[in-house]
Amino acid sequence: MLLTITTASQPATDLGYLLHKHPDRCQSFDLAFGKAHVFYPMAGENYCTAALLLDVDPVGLVRNRRGPAGDGFHLRQYVNDRPFVASSLMSVAIARVLGSALSGRCEQRSELVGQSMSLTAKLSVVPCRGGDGLLRRLFEPLGYRVTATRHPLDEKFPEWGESSYHTVELSAECRLQDLLAHLYVLIPVLDDDKHYWVSRDEVNKLLSKGEGWLESHPEKELIARRYLKHQTGLMRAALERLVEEESPDTDEDEKTHAAEEEAVEAPLRLNDQRLEAVVAALCDAGAKSVVDLGCGECKLLKLLLKDKSFERIIGMDVSYRTLEIAQRRLNFDRLPPKQRERIEVIHGSLMYRDDRLAGFDAATVVEVIEHLDAPRLAAFERVVFECAKPRTVIVTTPNVEYNVRFETLPADKFRHKDHRFEWTRAEFQEWANAVAQRFGYVVRFAPVGPVDSEVGSPTQMAVFDMEIQR
Ligand code: SAH
Repeated sequence: MLLTITTASQPATDLGYLLHKHPDRCQSFDLAFGKAHVFYPMAGENYCTAALLLDVDPVGLVRNRRGPAGDGFHLRQYVNDRPFVASSLMSVAIARVLGSALSGRCEQRSELVGQSMSLTAKLSVVPCRGGDGLLRRLFEPLGYRVTATRHPLDEKFPEWGESSYHTVELSAECRLQDLLAHLYVLIPVLDDDKHYWVSRDEVNKLLSKGEGWLESHPEKELIARRYLKHQTGLMRAALERLVEEESPDTDEDEKTHAAEEEAVEAPLRLNDQRLEAVVAALCDAGAKSVVDLGCGECKLLKLLLKDKSFERIIGMDVSYRTLEIAQRRLNFDRLPPKQRERIEVIHGSLMYRDDRLAGFDAATVVEVIEHLDAPRLAAFERVVFECAKPRTVIVTTPNVEYNVRFETLPADKFRHKDHRFEWTRAEFQEWANAVAQRFGYVVRFAPVGPVDSEVGSPTQMAVFDMEIQR
């Protein structure tokens, strides 16, 4: 099994410093399951390629094996694909043989560690359970160009069809340390197997190697599930810790801040009025399937469930814990089967393209955009209006002009401590008009709550309809 890493950044031989392996030497390392060799097939000023060759000893692999022997086919212990494919054995080899580079240490040339380089990793054979679609879903969000060639089961017998084995090339401008961490985590994920028993330590390994990228990866759930060998308890522990890392407002803070916001708005029953306005707009649009983005505690979903015209109702939120609480409150497990079939909640982030959000009549985004950092709104816009592309999108957000009418709200404060901004009517309309124009929607605006002649209504709502529909 061969992994090569090529750089085209000059001087290319700097790769040798970063890997702590001299380009002129071939080095071998003993591992529990065989040998690893590092050498450079090419080392010039313009291009430099380092190779990590794994020579797996199938007998060694069995000798060191703990746990049950498997499915009773004893020869499988010796006759299998492990010596020939990239698997968790490759991750172990990366950590053992290229450990300094993986952890970002380079004593001789420390300035190189933080530098982005033009890098290409080639894996001679990877079992990719989920096809090359999965390969792309895993690596493209991390900025890689992915080239994959799928191999037939047997070239002599084309009628046997394709195998799950691929030759894979990944190219990006990135730090070597990041490339190694991505490979370390994602190779076993593609393979969907591990050669050792997975315990709690594995959660820490996943989170440390996943630091800085996993928390915002659209497939983090699948990555955690496969990396932790489908052990649900471990997976949930990992996801909870990841969500905490992504959201600066922790779940506890979120609870307090949400309560504060509710207290400010309570005298107006604004929460109810907002949800009623959204449901009315959904009915007007004739929506049968709705995805509620940033659904929080699923208050809108609960309301939609009561109306049979909504046949498919899905809530999505970045906070795993909020979703768990919501499911408990909604008594998901005890809903009558007809209702249970119509509703689902999913864990995800509005910052990343997500195929699960496509195919809905309508999407609702109720009091969510103001929780997103303004520079990241552009990502949100593409996720909703370009990728998910529902016929109708309903967005609500506070109207900051109205804040002076809230007696309990100090003059310079937003309604919720996690709000990154609160917009005037003009600001909201300018944003919404530009989005509508860019993505082929028409937009209209409606006030929610009592309308004050001077400062407008406390909540503002935009209803976007896809243009071709009209
Ligand atoms: N729509 C709900 C909740 C609003 S609070 C209601 O009206 O009651 C804002 C919600 O947006 C929170 O639940 C928060 O977890 C969620 N959120 C914040 N950033 C998000 C993101 N990037 N992707 C998905 N949800 C997000």
